[in-house]
Amino acid sequence: MGQQWGIEIFKIICAENNFENFNTPGFFMSDNNNDKTQLADSAIPERAVTKVDSQQEPSIPKCVLCINAHPDDQEFTVGGALAKWAQQGAYIVTVVITSGDAGSNEHTPAEMTKTQLAALREVEQRNACAVLGIQETVFLHYPDGTLQPTLDLRRDLTRLIRKYKPDAVVCGDPTARFFGNSYMNHPDHRAAGDAACDAVFPSAGTKFIFPELLAEGYMPHNVSRVFLHGSEKSDVWIDVSETLELKVRALKEHASQIGAWDPTEMMQEWARDEGKARGIAFAESFRVMILQEEKPEQEKEREAKHEFAEAVL
Ligand SMILES: [Zn+2]
Repeated sequence: MGQQWGIEIFKIICAENNFENFNTPGFFMSDNNNDKTQLADSAIPERAVTKVDSQQEPSIPKCVLCINAHPDDQEFTVGGALAKWAQQGAYIVTVVITSGDAGSNEHTPAEMTKTQLAALREVEQRNACAVLGIQETVFLHYPDGTLQPTLDLRRDLTRLIRKYKPDAVVCGDPTARFFGNSYMNHPDHRAAGDAACDAVFPSAGTKFIFPELLAEGYMPHNVSRVFLHGSEKSDVWIDVSETLELKVRALKEHASQIGAWDPTEMMQEWARDEGKARGIAFAESFRVMILQEEKPEQEKEREAKHEFAEAVL
């Protein structure tokens, strides 16, 4: 099942892990092996028009803001896709809302303080980003484990969207609540996804929402696409066969969380499961929201000529 890895991810990412439970069968009941996008059966068909071409890999974004709650969330979920995009010229900014100072009971030494752990995990995250080819890493320093989708968080994320002006935002699916019958999504993940989506729309593009940001010099910006990972309604698959190794290497940078464990086999298994739905050897899947249609180059040229002609007349 395509989403099995997504489910498994959330079992590992946020501490207190029991590695024996990873292969619990039957997490996922739904069947995504059809050729239509999952949005086709939306309850609001007029608004949820199907625009996603599930058969084709999406175009490479020019600038990406990848927003997650904790250090290592990104590496477990979307490291392969980000590395691929980076190799093809995307400018990527990683935003980590907390610094992971709750850590994991298993791997956190008894004498380590929360402050020390946060500092260590920030270093690990920066090193992981370097492995993936990501240009910038931003920490917002919210407390780990008690994250809420507050207006303050939404404003902070809106500021970053307006600053970097990404055409694509990557975040977790905030509607992912229960996975199968044995894992409940970490509340920080849901809060991060909620705040990220709300920052994308309507806050980032609406000038009179958070007018204080205008005073700071941050003008409205419209994001074209949102890539949601860990979704039960994936409709886009990205082939990560060439970058899976980088994903594993990046993940290994989070030694304070995974210890000496080698994630290679598990990452391969998840990516293999993901790819099955589309006949791809190794894949990562997303639910993609298209908020602004991309215009083909020819159309842009036509419009430019039209504007020029109008100006001349
Ligand atoms: Zn997490």
